[in-house]
Parts: sequence; structure tokens; C-alpha cells
Amino acid sequence: MAVLVIADHDGAHLRDTTHKTVTAAKAISGDVDVMVLGQGASAVADAAAKIDGVRKVLLAEGAGVAQGLAEAVEATVVPLAAGYDAILVPANTDGKNYAPRIAAKLDVAPISDIVEVVSADTFVRPIYAGNALETIQSADAKKVITVRPTAFAAAGEGGSASVESIAAAEAPKTTFVSAEMVKSDRPELGAAKIIVSGGRALGSAEEFAAVIEPLADKLGAAVGASRAAVDAGYAPNDYQVGQTGKVVAPQLYIAIGISGAIQHLAGMKDSKVIVAINKDADAPIFQIADFGLVADYKTAVPELMAALG
Ligand code: FAD
Repeated sequence: MAVLVIADHDGAHLRDTTHKTVTAAKAISGDVDVMVLGQGASAVADAAAKIDGVRKVLLAEGAGVAQGLAEAVEATVVPLAAGYDAILVPANTDGKNYAPRIAAKLDVAPISDIVEVVSADTFVRPIYAGNALETIQSADAKKVITVRPTAFAAAGEGGSASVESIAAAEAPKTTFVSAEMVKSDRPELGAAKIIVSGGRALGSAEEFAAVIEPLADKLGAAVGASRAAVDAGYAPNDYQVGQTGKVVAPQLYIAIGISGAIQHLAGMKDSKVIVAINKDADAPIFQIADFGLVADYKTAVPELMAALG
């Protein structure tokens, strides 16, 4: 039984979500291959070859797969599926885009967002916005699985797998037009060790930028936001943490003026240490906070900034 992991990378660097997905793959099988799709991505393939326990790295280079077109990724992966019993991808934006397409082409049910591998056909995944965990057993001969990276430890280094170049397909009916990428010196939300998140309480985009961002910069943190803050235009869409945003599990999550609705908790409750600043002592966020400060952020955040020096 062999497993194929599709690597997550930015063209130059392998993201540690790949290492975490390899950990999930190793719980299914001892034969784990990694596929790197991209253009000029040989450094990424070399990095993948060093992951402990990886048998072989497949490097598929082409314009369509480099641009992340789901049609091109699917057309590259599906012809190889005969050699694998399971295909695993990180449950990030890209993985959620192409995994269902690969599953549909293979005529199997995709298994999304697993947080535990019980056995080769049985997996645990959150449901109801993370309020319950369900254990599912798949009867499909081939499994297409998205893996919640925050639920798995990263596989270590020490491997010396071979790298094999394979043909990358192009998207038959889709043309890449353009991508507008946000450039930021801050860490990526999904990989950050510290996240400072702001909610509706901030009241405006100017206040969000004046309060949340300097604190994040002082801590070397990524910036997150509740959906209410995003919907109100205080913060961009890609800052959203929660059920319909990003799922994060940093070492430290600081929630400022966020009530703690279940849909927000679904995206951050696995953070190692949660700090909440909220002026309402009954706010639900305090039920999961390790450190709760009942205070107006307008006084608490400047005090925190001053204490940090
Ligand atoms: P509020 O609930 O309005 O809370 C603001 C908090 O700020 C309050 O607790 C208040 O006491 C506190 N406050 C006010 N002034 C101050 C002050 N001066 N100092 C300190 N504290 C203050 N939400 C998400 O976040 N992410 C999601 O992915 C998400 N997905 C959703 C999906 C669905 C299908 C649905 C129905 C909802 C979803 N939501 C999501 C929305 C969610 O239900 C909440 O509406 C949202 O999280 C509330 O955001 P908030 O805590 O910033 O605002």
C-alpha cells in the first residue's frame, strides 16, 4: 500500500505543512512518495527528498501546475493514481481546490480535514464547526484525503530519497490570467508561532491598523481577524481565522475584542496558549482562554506595548 503526498510550497521553499502531511501519510503506509508540482522547483524537490521516511520524490514541472490550476494538477496526478492507495494533500486553500477534483475524477468520496489516522481506512475529522469529532471508515479502494496540518507533528529531516522528473499536464480548458499577491514581511498566518487577532470591537480599519498591527510587529506575529472585522472592512479577507477562514494553531494566540463565537473558535482553539482581552467578563472567548483580561483594549493594549518595551 503506497501513499502519494502532494507538496505545499511557494516555488522556492517547501512549507512545513508538507512535513506534517507526510507524518499523516506514514501512519497509513511505510511507502510514501511526495509529488512537487511547479516550475523551476528543483530546490523544493530536493528539500522534499530530505524528509525522513520519503521513498521517492516526483517532480512535475509546467506552467499550469506552477500556477496552481486545479485542472492541471488533477490531469497530472490522476494518471499516476493507479500506483497509489491514498493521495494526501494539506487542507489549505490549494489542497481544498484540487483534492475534490482529483476525487471526482477517480470516482471516490474525498475525505476532508482529517486530524487523526486510526488505520489505513479509518480517520478522525472535526464536524459541526469543530464541536464534535467523527470517526469515518472509507470503503473506497483509493482514498483522496485532505490533512489538517496543525493536527500532526512535522516529519523530521534525514531522508535521502531519489528525485524523478515526470510530465506535468496543462489545463485543457482553463487559462491563467493573473494573480495579485499580497506582499508582507509578517509571518504567514497558517505557519506563524504568534498571532495577534482583532475583532469587531476595533471599530474601523484605521483603528485595526493602529492597534493590532504594531503589537503584532513588536511580537514578530502574524495578524488575524474575526469574520465580523473582515466583513466590516477593518481587515482583509485573508486575515480571517475560523470555520470559513484559516485554521491556525500557533504557540500564542492573542484575541483582542473578539467575542469567541463557535465559528471563530473552530479556527483557533487548538492554539497552545490563548490570551483574550475583552471588556465583557461573560464573553465566550474566556471559556477557552488560558489568560483572560477583562479590560478595554484601548487601555490594555497600550499597557502591553509599553511593558514589551
Ligand atoms: P462580536 O461578536 O461583535 O464581538 C465583539 C467583542 O468585542 C464583544 O465580545 C465585546 O465585548 C468586545 N468589545 C467591544 N468593545 C471592546 C473594547 N473596547 N475592548 C475590549 N473588548 C471589547 N466568525 C469568525 O471569526 N470566523 C469565521 O470563519 C466565521 N465563519 C462563520 C461561518 C458561518 C456559517 C457563520 C454563520 C458565522 C461565521 N462567523 C465566523 C461569524 C461568527 O458567528 C461571529 O459573528 C464573529 O466571529 C463575531 O466576530 P467578533 O467576535 O469580532 O464580533
